[in-house]
Amino acid sequence: MKKQEFKVFVDFDGTITIEDVGDAIFSKFGETEKVNNIISDLLCDKISSRQCWDDLCECVGSVNKKELEDFICSLDIEPTFKSFIEFCRDQEIELYVLSDGFDFYIDKVFSKAGLIGIKYYSNKLLVDDYGKLSASYPYFDEGSPTSANCKKNHIINHSSDDDFTIYIGDGNSDKDAAQYCDFIFAKKDLARFCSMERISFYPFNNFDDVKNKINELLSKKNLRKRHQAQLKRKSAYLAE
Ligand SMILES: [Mg+2]
Repeated sequence: MKKQEFKVFVDFDGTITIEDVGDAIFSKFGETEKVNNIISDLLCDKISSRQCWDDLCECVGSVNKKELEDFICSLDIEPTFKSFIEFCRDQEIELYVLSDGFDFYIDKVFSKAGLIGIKYYSNKLLVDDYGKLSASYPYFDEGSPTSANCKKNHIINHSSDDDFTIYIGDGNSDKDAAQYCDFIFAKKDLARFCSMERISFYPFNNFDDVKNKINELLSKKNLRKRHQAQLKRKSAYLAE
C-alpha cells in the first residue's frame, strides 16, 4: 500500500522564531506608538496586511542597514525546529514555510541557524543604500486580505487530493490558510480563532509536540481527512 503522503506548511514569525521578527524590527526601528497603532489596526481588521506593511515601512523612514542585520541575527529560532526539519527529511515529508513576513530576515535567520535549502514563500523587503525600506508582494491575492502573501494559494499549488496536509502556525495570517489543511497545529491567536470557529486543531508548544503527533498519524491505518478542509480545497481547485 502507498505510504501516506503528508505535506507540511509552516508559518515563520512566532512559529519558527521565538518572537515575531517583523514586529520586532518595526518596534525597534519605528516610532513605538505609531507602530502599535498600525499593528492594532491590522488585528481588528481595519487595514489589510499589505497596508500594514506599507504603513510600517513608511513609519520607519530609514534604518542603518548594518544595525538592522545585527538585530535580526540576535533573534533566535525555536530550538526544536532543526530536529523537526531532519525528521521531515528522514520521513520524506515535503515542508514549505509560508510567511507573511519578509525574505530579507528569513534568509538571515535560516543561515544563522545553519538551515539550508528550506523552501519558503514570503513578501519581499528591499533596503536601499539610504536605508529606506520598501516592501513588495509577489504572492498577493485580493481574495485573501489577511495575508499579503496568499498562503492558501501555496497550499493549493503544492498539494493534491491524495495528500494529507498539515498546517502549523500561530497568528492572523494563518487563519484563512489553516482551514485548507487536514491537520492544524495551532497556538496563540490561531488557536483562539480555531476554538471560536469550532475548527479542530492540536495545541502545541514546540516542534517536538508536532513531531510526536505526526508520528502517531503516520502509524494510523485509516487516517481521515478533515471534511471542511476537503470542501475548501475542492472549491479552490475548481476555481483555478
Ligand atoms: Mg506567525
